Amino acid sequence: MSDIVEHDTLFIAGQWVEPAGTETIEVVSPVTEQVVGRVPHATPADVDKAVAAARAAFDHGPWPRLSLVERAEVVTRIKDAIAARHRELAELVTLQNGSPMLFSVRGQALSAVGAFAVALAAERFSQEDERPGTGGPVLVRREPVGVVAAITPWNVPQLTIAGKLAPALLAGCTVILKPSPETPLDANWLADVCAEAGLPDGVLSVLPAGRETGAYLVAHPDVDKVAFTGSVAAGKAIMAAAAENLTRVSLELGGKSAAILLDDADLAVAVPAVVGGTCAANSGQACVALTRVLVPASRYDEVATALTGAFAGLKVGDPADPTTVVGPMVTRQQQERNLEYIRIGREEGAKVLTGGGVPEGLSTGWYVSPTLFGDVTNDMRIAREEIFGPVVCLLRYETVDEAVALANDSAFGLSGAVFSADPERATEVARRVRTGTVTVNGFRLDLAAPFGGFKNSGIGREFGPEGLAAYFEYQAVNLPAPNPS
Ligand code: NAD
Repeated sequence: MSDIVEHDTLFIAGQWVEPAGTETIEVVSPVTEQVVGRVPHATPADVDKAVAAARAAFDHGPWPRLSLVERAEVVTRIKDAIAARHRELAELVTLQNGSPMLFSVRGQALSAVGAFAVALAAERFSQEDERPGTGGPVLVRREPVGVVAAITPWNVPQLTIAGKLAPALLAGCTVILKPSPETPLDANWLADVCAEAGLPDGVLSVLPAGRETGAYLVAHPDVDKVAFTGSVAAGKAIMAAAAENLTRVSLELGGKSAAILLDDADLAVAVPAVVGGTCAANSGQACVALTRVLVPASRYDEVATALTGAFAGLKVGDPADPTTVVGPMVTRQQQERNLEYIRIGREEGAKVLTGGGVPEGLSTGWYVSPTLFGDVTNDMRIAREEIFGPVVCLLRYETVDEAVALANDSAFGLSGAVFSADPERATEVARRVRTGTVTVNGFRLDLAAPFGGFKNSGIGREFGPEGLAAYFEYQAVNLPAPNPS
């Protein structure tokens, strides 16, 4: 009997149907390097079919015409089904991308449940409100944006899907999801969950495919909005393609975030948070990772020693082992990318304090040792470019102004953290950091708050009420002024 999770059909418009082409995607385990899954590779012909169905369901179907409350009932059933089966989902994600179960249960599966929950909580605000205008009353309405193409990455596949699917469905949109080819199995799993929850036909299609099919989907004239999470390069290509039809875009892209330790930072708080925000966050394959740690020169040696010890003590290995903190990289290519940056860091004159290669005894699977670089300066490539793995830079600063300047001296602006014994002092510094999220004395992605990037980290926000608002168009209905009596 084969252990491979196999699909031979595509989920188009609510039905499992024959794919237009014959090509398949093979999912390869990052642990064993063996094939663990196989699905059809969607082609432009499948995109045409899915978009036509989504267009028809949006223009003529019941879904956008139901009340918010009725849609919320279906979305709640989807959320509850994911919650009830979250362990199965976490295992499926881990099978494909090697995310340690320690992270996968909370950071992959339960965080997706959380994204559905915050969208449902935001749904309670009214769809129409009337306000006094300059020439009479105005009815301000929110209309669903239309047919949504959701394009997602492999690192946190279900969280990035949920951040798009939940608000899009609640708003009344129809959705074509194109998951990353590294993680098609959890996307297909979700298709079944949605169908079982009673999502009407035509509302959702799932098209696992590579970037060519993605590019075709983005450029499709019947798509009204593209919601994308992934790399900066792909984000730019998507925005350029969307410009042709003035398709709306939201982009959640990469990061190179700073953890600023102020001179009074408590290392008992800061060190676990930095570990939690780097190596322990999906083995460092996280857009929000705190990959630049900024330390006052006066405390550099103390912090370097503490972080070196913490990194060196992390358990690296099989992600299915519940005690593993750092698993393999998703692909051989991603492992090679990390090793190449480690080589570059050495060449640039940074000092490897711990790690710096492939862990001993783990030659099968795509592992990288938790690596801490000391003596890093902010002009080095390892401090400027997103590495996407357990590779972290330690930088010195003299004054708080310099620390803020270093944090902001980045093409990215996604996340960050500030540590101090005085939370108010840390909050003042947080206000000066030009990123979409900053955490005081910790590492957190709070789904109740708007999440997104400044600068090259993206455009738009997901999660929280702002994440739902992104799936509406406003319509102003100018009402007649009351007759003067
Ligand atoms: P990627 O950009 O290579 O691919 C992401 C998705 O886009 C995949 O589904 C891919 O097939 C598709 N794609 C690529 N080029 C496309 C194009 N021209 N048109 C349409 N679709 C296209 O990224 P990845 O390697 O899968 O993911 C890692 C990146 O994602 C990192 O840069 C990471 O920081 C970023 N990320 C950001 C967030 C966030 O919320 N800001 C969250 C997770 C990951």
